Amino acid sequence: MTSLDLSIPEKIDNYINGSWQAPQQGQYLPNINPATGEVYNQIPNSTAVDVDAAYQAAAAAFEDWKKSTPEFRFRILNKIAEIIENNLDILALAESNDNGKPLWLSKKVDIPRAAENFRFFATACMHFASESHSMEDRAVNYTLRQPIGVVGCIAPWNLPLYLFTWKIAPALATGNCVVAKPSEVTPMTAYLLTRIAHEAGLPPGVLNILHGDGTACGAAIVEHPSIKAISFTGSTRAGKHIAGVAAPMFKKMSLELGGKNPNIIFEDCDFDRMLATTVQSSFANQGQICLCGSRILVQASIYEKFKSAFIAKVQQLTVGDPLDPDSKQGAVVSQLHFDKVMSCIERAKQEGGSILHGGYSIHPEGRCGNGLFIAPTVIEGLGPDTLTNMEEIFGPVVTLQKFDTTEEAIQLANTSDYGLSATIWTQDISKAHRVAARVHSGIIWINTWLLRDLRTPFGGFKSSGMGREGGWEAMRFFTEPKNVCVAF
Ligand code: NAD
Repeated sequence: MTSLDLSIPEKIDNYINGSWQAPQQGQYLPNINPATGEVYNQIPNSTAVDVDAAYQAAAAAFEDWKKSTPEFRFRILNKIAEIIENNLDILALAESNDNGKPLWLSKKVDIPRAAENFRFFATACMHFASESHSMEDRAVNYTLRQPIGVVGCIAPWNLPLYLFTWKIAPALATGNCVVAKPSEVTPMTAYLLTRIAHEAGLPPGVLNILHGDGTACGAAIVEHPSIKAISFTGSTRAGKHIAGVAAPMFKKMSLELGGKNPNIIFEDCDFDRMLATTVQSSFANQGQICLCGSRILVQASIYEKFKSAFIAKVQQLTVGDPLDPDSKQGAVVSQLHFDKVMSCIERAKQEGGSILHGGYSIHPEGRCGNGLFIAPTVIEGLGPDTLTNMEEIFGPVVTLQKFDTTEEAIQLANTSDYGLSATIWTQDISKAHRVAARVHSGIIWINTWLLRDLRTPFGGFKSSGMGREGGWEAMRFFTEPKNVCVAF
């Protein structure tokens, strides 16, 4: 018999100490479906007092949770994964309504990956081992990996449940208690996760989920003196601010920030395979994936061939109602973001760029007439030092640039303050390895894109952040190593 209620109320609440609580100052924010423009419910705009209540609950729960066995944590986290999978349709619809992304995409990618995150880290804690260092006949050192205590997890709106669980699951698996905040723009699956965690038997206080904006709620998590680590994914702007607040408090920090990723296409690539994947790496999730290849660098000898084949494919991308299975692209996430992307397109024109496709908003007929839709946009004619090619746009906008030599391709790829990911297309595997070693990015794909193995380190160089998530990296981030030296 299940008590699981995954209906969407008119007002959602924070989840603190195992119960749903209204924000103490009574402030709420409207939650808008970006595909229709409709306000469909209210979410708390929590403040420092709510954060402190969540911290107190987490600190109390930590006393038992830190002593729990890996098997105990495995069972609960694995149960959460199962409940997510069993409710795929409900969660996918909530994600699509909140974010504007096509329903088929949240069914295929976002929600399955959220379940995988819990399952992956549920099993990881059963296998997590630490080192020992022998000093021959004098002593032995062994390293304890102990949970940090209460940690803060702050996530963005582009892959809401996917990225939220990517932080929460390893934090819990390693024995920490969590105060977490989803983006105020996409809170709904985080709210549903509270119902699921409760149903799975997660003890009260172990996971606390607060809703609210970055300046009040997010900032209060970062500023809380007893929240000892911050795992943040979001913009470089907010990441920089968070680093400035948390560093003098000596908090552990993992910052996964923006990207302006090069997609390097050599003349000797498998053209058809490259073309199909490049359409995805440009426009999947309306271009709102930190890993999208927004700077397409093409070898001059195939530039014209690529340009016409790419535009022909992009013309076929249907933009429209996220609930329509034929829509390849849905709405962008919010009015604020729509305005930002449209102003970046205007700026590209002022900088002298030519719009080869798109550059305008779309108003579908029917229920999505007031939605925030932008045509997939392809721009050429801009150099590497234009703002269009230097600043993250994070929407359905890509630029094309030409290069002649491998050296020039590497230089263009590295002419960016960001260094999150890069894609390399060539059938010369030695060249691929050489270029991979020299491109300044934390994640390189050769002849593929977004192929993820959850065991691999995930994160960026330069303004794309600091620290790595994934596999043992995440397990290490959420634990404090303590060396114990035993003399013989
Ligand atoms: P954002 O920085 O505006 O917000 C991210 C989260 O931080 C939200 O929950 C927000 O409320 C909160 N926040 C904002 N200001 C804060 C502050 N001062 N203190 C504490 N919390 C604060 O980012 P966004 O617009 O939600 O997301 C888009 C950005 O995220 C893009 O730059 C994208 O590249 C980046 N991103 C990076 C990765 C990665 O893995 N590197 C993944 C996805 C998205």
